[in-house]
Amino acid sequence: MRYISTRGQAPELGFGEAMMTGLARDGGLYVPESVPVLAADEIAAWAGLSYEDLAFNVIRPFIGGFFADAELKALIARAYQGFGHAARAPLVQLGPDHFLMELFHGPTLAFKDFAMQLIGQMMQAALARSGERITIVGATSGDTGSAAIEAFRGLSNVDVVILFPHGRVSEVQRRQMTTPSEANVHALAVDGDFDTCQARLKDMFNDFAFRDEVRLAGVNSINWARVLAQVVYYFHAGLSLGAPHRPVSFTVPTGNFGDIFAGHVARAMGLPIDRLVIATNQNDILDRTLKSGEYRTMGVAPSISPSMDIQVSSNFERALFDATGRDAAAVAALMRGLNQSGGFAVPAPALAALRAEYGSGRASEAETQDTIARIWRETGELLCPHSAVGVKVASEQPARGMMVTLATAHPAKFPDAVEAATGLRPALPARMADLFERPERVTRVAGDLAALQKVIRARIAGESH
Ligand SMILES: *Cc1c(COP(=O)(O)O)cnc(C)c1O
Repeated sequence: MRYISTRGQAPELGFGEAMMTGLARDGGLYVPESVPVLAADEIAAWAGLSYEDLAFNVIRPFIGGFFADAELKALIARAYQGFGHAARAPLVQLGPDHFLMELFHGPTLAFKDFAMQLIGQMMQAALARSGERITIVGATSGDTGSAAIEAFRGLSNVDVVILFPHGRVSEVQRRQMTTPSEANVHALAVDGDFDTCQARLKDMFNDFAFRDEVRLAGVNSINWARVLAQVVYYFHAGLSLGAPHRPVSFTVPTGNFGDIFAGHVARAMGLPIDRLVIATNQNDILDRTLKSGEYRTMGVAPSISPSMDIQVSSNFERALFDATGRDAAAVAALMRGLNQSGGFAVPAPALAALRAEYGSGRASEAETQDTIARIWRETGELLCPHSAVGVKVASEQPARGMMVTLATAHPAKFPDAVEAATGLRPALPARMADLFERPERVTRVAGDLAALQKVIRARIAGESH
């Protein structure tokens, strides 16, 4: 299996290289040259498998033998052993045709753990083989950072540097990033919003001298291996609800478009998915784009669902690549337009293709709060604000079969918003009950490339702080 860039100007890579590289050197994102397509009876035969066995079947065709079967099985087993629920991604019924898929039982209480725990295992195995040392730099809107730290803390051949927007993550999210005491963990509070952090990260990858000097590796949601890990739970939910004999729709609280793009891959593999519905908060660029055909960034307005406070939705580039019939030159031109003028018009055939596959909706701050309160009253399920955005948008979709809304984080990660809506303050699971007593360690950095590179160089050289 070879991987190609959405902008067509970077070398083709195998799975291992695509995983270690993250962003392609032409600024594009790696995608598989072709997606393996399964027959309905092959999918049907997977019903009843454990999450781990299903993950092995879904992931194996994409890795092109980079891990032997026994090794891949062992990596998957280790990735999910720390989850606090035997089903890994349990379904909870909210209404006759509406289910919630709880993706928050991993070590840092957000769906990011599904991909990050696995990519952590895979990268360690690849590094053990090559004897290399790498610097992982990640930008986070709140949940990727802690998930990455959890996956890489304490490793001797990895430094993990996390850029988060200063003052714009919840206190639980911040403490999850600033309290790990291992010397290879570096939390940087950047002046700016998430788009600033993500832009500086891309700048670092595009500074090839720096990239090679520190052996930069990326684990952001643009990393193909992360998308791949997320494909598994679409199959898991689909099979639980009668696929491939019955189609299922999914509503996905969306920011950087990684999670919902995994649903697109599951569909391309043959899982009968009817609709993939993009749910956004008030930072609704994707909903506006599908409705108007114009992708146009505006400033980010901080919300109670901060992990979705994003305007430059990186993985949308992968969706555009497929919607343009995999026209790399067209995608590169659209992305130049985004850089130069803050937006672009989606070409008409691509817009039609996107509309045929994706629905969309948005939730205001008040609607998000109301949904947390309503679902708590009606079902006893406590939703985090991101999941509530999803449930609100899902409830507005025309009824056409089963709907699964992805619950992307645990309510205890956002206790203030949940308490304001319900009067109830959700408790952290026992294993992190002392989070607020642990000492924090964080460095404030200006949102410019030179300042960040200076701090990162000093840190990986082992200077204390
Ligand atoms: C990251 C995140 C999202 C958005 O996921 P994308 O893959 O970036 O679209 C939604 N909810 C929560 C809780 C998250 O952490």
